[in-house]
Formats: sequence, structure tokens, C-alpha cells
Amino acid sequence: GLQCGIVGLPNVGKSTLFNAISSGKAEAANYPFCTIDPNVGVVTVPDERLDTLETLVKPQKVVPTIIEFVDIAGLVKGASQGQGLGNKFLANIREVDAIVHVIRCFEDDNIVHVEGRVNPIFDKDIIDTELQLKDLESVDKKLQRIEKAARVSGDAKAKAELEVLLRYKNALEDGKNARLVDATEEEKRAAVGDLHLLTIKPVIYVANVDEGSLPNGNKYSDQLREAVKAEGADVLVICANIESQISEMSEPEEQQMFLEEYGLTESGLSQLIKASYSLLNLITYFTAGVKEVRAWTIQRGWKAPQAAGVIHTDFERGFIRAEVIKLPDYVQYKSEAAIKDAGKMSVEGKEYVVQDGDIMHFRFNV
Ligand code: GDP
Repeated sequence: GLQCGIVGLPNVGKSTLFNAISSGKAEAANYPFCTIDPNVGVVTVPDERLDTLETLVKPQKVVPTIIEFVDIAGLVKGASQGQGLGNKFLANIREVDAIVHVIRCFEDDNIVHVEGRVNPIFDKDIIDTELQLKDLESVDKKLQRIEKAARVSGDAKAKAELEVLLRYKNALEDGKNARLVDATEEEKRAAVGDLHLLTIKPVIYVANVDEGSLPNGNKYSDQLREAVKAEGADVLVICANIESQISEMSEPEEQQMFLEEYGLTESGLSQLIKASYSLLNLITYFTAGVKEVRAWTIQRGWKAPQAAGVIHTDFERGFIRAEVIKLPDYVQYKSEAAIKDAGKMSVEGKEYVVQDGDIMHFRFNV
């Protein structure tokens, strides 16, 4: 499944946010294959289209799609040299699809700031630097290998890769994150695709503010927003303490009233889920049967066999064709039989690019 790693300096509110996220744990019971790891919080992705399908199909159960958040604690200055949990923590980041970088934007004299005072730009730089140093190691290692190949064989491909790698090296040495390097998708794949760089992963910044600074933030979150403008990254203003209180409320009405008191229309968690989806260019398709109506997450642009592979690798390997229904047609005709009669069910082959909201039925050989 999709994983987002939560990073940040100590005492910025990571655990508070993570605990708020993972207290929705009851939902995880729907996931027989999910391993219960204390550092992994599973959240379901809210989707009105599932409710629509439930009403139409009346299935025995409804299974929403999920995002996993991983609490990556222990990053401090010097982590790239093995300080704190150092390398273990960096290895954890290597495995996630996206990074949620939490930054302290609240003042509280009772809560020690590891670097002495609240300064979102410094804090961000400390984390960035550690990740960049690690990336620089990876890039340097590959550079040495490729340099040799380019020299020995005069290989044009190696030379081209070398040029791209140097672009990454220079950027990292300048204190820039790898995601900001100007390179085509193809150059990226060839030169650094195998390195799993940490600072190339998409990132969302979370400004953790005090209760009084909701909903629009404060001078600290403004500074942060200004600093990441060039990166084109999102800054979400969240109050982790409030999120934690919301997560303890069981009634949606109660949550709603509470949010309104702070001038919010939706919880920070819900904003975070949406932002992760859009950051990662994800879409949802559905399967709908009387046993189960279910949402599945894929990357925009995936073709039918690859999308089928999310359900089971056999579906991808043995893919024959897909029957596709559009949700508005389901709403209009109410049943699969009626949709078929109306000629609104299309049969698609392995080149079909799955669209957001498609209702898919896969035919495959075993
Ligand atoms: P972590 O080390 O980044 O995981 O930070 P924690 O989540 O453990 O938070 C450190 C301390 O800051 C805890 O005592 C939290 O209650 C407190 N804290 C977290 N978020 C906020 C906030 O929005 N406002 C205030 N005043 N305190 C917060």
C-alpha cells in the first residue's frame, strides 16, 4: 500500500499527530493482511462515491482504500553520521512513497525546543541537510562507478548519465533537495532511479501551530510558506493537539461542531489525506459486487492490467479484458443488468488507461 513517512525534529508534534492518525485503528480490522506495527498508522480514505455504490449495490461489506503513515522518530542533527537513531531511521525513509515533514510553529516554554528556539526555517534546514548528506553519499558512490565506465569505454550513455549525476551532486552540495533538480523523467530514471534518493521523494510540509493560530496560521507558518514557495510544495496548517482531541470523539456531529469552533471546515487529517493523494498523483477505482464494494488506489495513467495487479498479481499476469462502468451510469440505470442492456458497459483491453471513479470487473486466466 501507499506509505507516507512522518519526519521532523524531536518535540515538534510528530507523535501527537501520529497518534491522532492511528487512533482510527478500528478501521484497520477490515484489512486482514495489514501487519500491526506500532509505528504504522492505517487511515481509511473518505470517499462519497463509496457511499453511493453502497446504496446501489447493497453489499455485505464496504472496504475503503487506505493510506499508511509511518512514524519515523529519531532524526536529529548528525543523523547522516549515525547520531541518534541515524541510519536505521534513514533506511525507514527510503521505503516510503512520500514524506510528511512536520515543523514546529508553536511557542510553548514548557516544551523544550532541541535547537533552543522556534525557527521553522532552521528546523527545516537541519532535516533537509541530513537527508541531502545521505543522498550525496549515494550519488558519489554511483559517480565513481560511472566515471570509470565513461573513461574506459567512452560510452556515450555513461557520459550522459555522468552529466546528470553531476547536476544532482552540485545541487545537493548547494543545499538543494534532489526533487528540485532540473532533469527529464528519462534522465532521472537512468541516472538516479536506482538510488532511491531521500530528498527526491515528494513532500508535504505540516506547520504544527497552537490552537490560537487556527485556521490560517501565524508568523512561523507564514515564514515556512515563504521558504518553500520555490519548491512549489504544500504547507498544511495543522494543530496536532486539536487533531488528537478530534480523534477521540466518536460522533461525527460532535467533531463537526468542534472543528467549527476553530474556524475549520475539515480536520487536518482529512486535509493531509487529500494532499497526499494529489501530491502522489493517485486515483481510485472501484470493484462492486454483492459480497463487497471496494475502493482501490492506483497511479494516474496506469493501464488496466497494472491496475488489476493491485488486487492480485494473478489478475495482472492472466489479464484478458476489463468490463468498465462509469459511476453516473450506475446511478442512472441502478443495476449491472440494466447498464448492460443500455449498452453502457464497455469492454476494454490491456491498453485501457483506468480513469478515476471507474467501476472495474476484470476477466483473467489463472
Ligand atoms: P515529537 O517528538 O515530534 O513526536 O513531539 P510530540 O508529539 O511528542 O510533542 C512534544 C510535546 O509538544 C508534547 O508535550 C505535545 O503535547 C506538545 N505539542 C504537540 N503539538 C502541540 C501544539 O500544537 N501546541 C502545543 N502547545 N504543544 C504541542
